[in-house]
Amino acid sequence: MVGDARGRVLGRILVVRDVSEQQERQAAVERLNRQLAEQVEVIERLRAELAEEAVRDPLTGLHNRRHLDRVLVADLARRPRTGQLSLLVLDVDHFKSVNDRFGHAAGDTVLTSVAATLSAAVRTGDTAARLGGEEFVLVLPGAGRDQAVERAEQVRRQVAAVRHVLDGDDVGITVSIGVAVCPADGSDPAALLRAADQALYTAKATGRDRVVAAAPGDPDRVPAAVPTLGGAVVPVLVPGR
Ligand code: GH3
Ligand code: MG
Ligand code: MG
Repeated sequence: MVGDARGRVLGRILVVRDVSEQQERQAAVERLNRQLAEQVEVIERLRAELAEEAVRDPLTGLHNRRHLDRVLVADLARRPRTGQLSLLVLDVDHFKSVNDRFGHAAGDTVLTSVAATLSAAVRTGDTAARLGGEEFVLVLPGAGRDQAVERAEQVRRQVAAVRHVLDGDDVGITVSIGVAVCPADGSDPAALLRAADQALYTAKATGRDRVVAAAPGDPDRVPAAVPTLGGAVVPVLVPGR
């Protein structure tokens, strides 16, 4: 309002500002921000998927050797001074004959099935991995020898219970399992894997479809009595430690 010295209204000043352009610019910025946020979300999801694929075996979906190596180092480092950690190494028995008889694709379905059984056996803190070929590993932090042998027996039985229909034939698959325990059989990943491999070798040599636990390699010590749980559980001396 504009007035004179006596307060009389002389007129009004009206300021008209065109803000439509500013509003449009504001809306465009908001639109771009939303698009950017969506793109960041997509990139983040793809990055997570890639990271997950890098630690997975493409055939079975289990963790791969690379991830297993890292997990073993981490789990062993986390292990309390008095705590134990067990390692199971599983190998499918006579797997080559499955490939030979039914073909590589049928062999792959058998590997996927064994992996599914292993996945189902995993509990919080455990890691199941495919070492390569028809060999698998189960890491059981906190498990001592008895518990590890019991878990191995369960897995052995579960694998044997699955029927595979291959080319119209009903085929049973078995696994042999070697068990090694930290610290008794070794305290680093390589020593533990070696001990479990040695036990697995004995399982193969003594008839397959069985669990064999490594026994600490003190030459003066009689192998520890490993509980037998239905299947054949044989103790074996682990040399070289
Ligand atoms: P054993 O009871 O002594 O373990 O005998 P095996 O026949 O299971 O063992 P061997 O090491 O002789 O054969 C393993 C076979 O596994 C040979 C290889 O061609 C096959 N193999 C390895 N990786 C794969 C795979 O990804 N898919 C399939 N279908 N076969 C595979
Ligand atoms: Mg093998
Ligand atoms: Mg084999």
